[in-house]
Amino acid sequence: MLTNDQLAQWDRDNFFHPSTHLAEFARGNVAQRIIKTAEGCHITDRDGTRLLDAFAGLYCVNVGYGRQEIAEAIADQARELAYYHAYVGHGTEASITLSKMILDRAPKGMSKVYFGLSGSDANETNVKLIWYYNNILGRPRKKKIISRWRGYHGSGLVTGSLTGLELFHKKFDLPLAQVIHTEAPYYFRRPKDDMTEAQFTAHLVAELEALIEREGADTIAAFIGEPVLGTGGIVPPPEGYWPAIQKVLRKHDILLVADEVVTGFGRLGTMFGSDHYGIEPDLITIAKGLTSAYAPLSGSIVGDRMWKVLEQGTDENGPIGHGWTYSAHPVGAAAGVANLKLLDDLNLVQNAGDVGNYLNAQMRAALAEHPHVGEVRGEGMLCAVELVRDRDTRKFFDPSEKVGPRIASALLGHGVIARAMPQGDILGFAPPFCLTRAQADEVVEKTAKSISEALS
Ligand code: PLP
Repeated sequence: MLTNDQLAQWDRDNFFHPSTHLAEFARGNVAQRIIKTAEGCHITDRDGTRLLDAFAGLYCVNVGYGRQEIAEAIADQARELAYYHAYVGHGTEASITLSKMILDRAPKGMSKVYFGLSGSDANETNVKLIWYYNNILGRPRKKKIISRWRGYHGSGLVTGSLTGLELFHKKFDLPLAQVIHTEAPYYFRRPKDDMTEAQFTAHLVAELEALIEREGADTIAAFIGEPVLGTGGIVPPPEGYWPAIQKVLRKHDILLVADEVVTGFGRLGTMFGSDHYGIEPDLITIAKGLTSAYAPLSGSIVGDRMWKVLEQGTDENGPIGHGWTYSAHPVGAAAGVANLKLLDDLNLVQNAGDVGNYLNAQMRAALAEHPHVGEVRGEGMLCAVELVRDRDTRKFFDPSEKVGPRIASALLGHGVIARAMPQGDILGFAPPFCLTRAQADEVVEKTAKSISEALS
């Protein structure tokens, strides 16, 4: 077996890590962690350090680590049939079964599932389908996509453009011209202090209307949003937001994409965030929770009204010119089937709601009055603690002070993984759905301790 020192050296010499300060990593100033095993809500690294993973990897290991049922399903599938493609009508028992299981759980009005490998490529698929749809309908100008600042939809070319975080645009020549952004539904950062939540929602609706007016509704094809803003800060929508936004979109014949890569399959305590907030999307993006990340698999769930036009398009133009070699990969599909069964058998969606609400309530009780905590917010098994210099005036820390990363690092020292969200001093929590109340208490207690230590 390789020694830890050897692995660490090879890591610095050969491995291009995503979302990493490359130069600091090469210089040895970014810590390495080589993960070896995991079980339930805990991971263990090669040095033997065991950590409570309160972010479920990247909010994806929803059923928890070490599930033998999924490992067996993957191994069985690989032994029986490791690969066959899904082009021109080919399928496997796993991919066909999984499509049905997804549609049985999806919000009403959805028709078919296209499978990809990542949330990013699923959103690339969505944009292509939206453009195709409007071309088939004879509306070649109706192509722009509206996304929200602070939205996260991936880091490809068009999906990096949809993402509304500066880090993903800067020096990459993004966003592309077909993508435009509107204000984030982020009540804590509302423009005026005296705005109620309902007034803030009205303000966001007015901003959207103004954007559509400026650009021309005949140039706007779709609006994309996460039911709860995720990577942009874990921000549930303000009161009445989704119904009000949908009204505007319907008026201007603009399609709605619900990006449920984080919220899909139970994270809010309901199967889909769309059901949670009364969203009626034309397309739903799924990934992470579809397999709990036991294998890479994503999907675009296509709604009835788009599906009819896609069929019309192929009657007029021949087979759809879209597909990946690994679309509906049997091993990923087998992982998906086993994962969705496990969610049901262990009642994990209900647990995500119950223990998630408990985690949020306890975090609020412990921290809401802390002089440097501006807000504790969340929904289901998503929770965020936003740090501020001054809570009364909502004055933020200077980013150079790295308050969020410092607290996350202190928390790591106490054996708990939280995520310092990329924009703002926000600690994010998105544990596996099997988190227990005792583990939630541990997360809260150690978070409070770490905040005091890092800010004293
Ligand atoms: N959409 C949302 C809401 C996400 O949170 C993410 C990833 O975090 C993506 C899309 C992109 O998924 P991936 O990283 O699998 O490409």
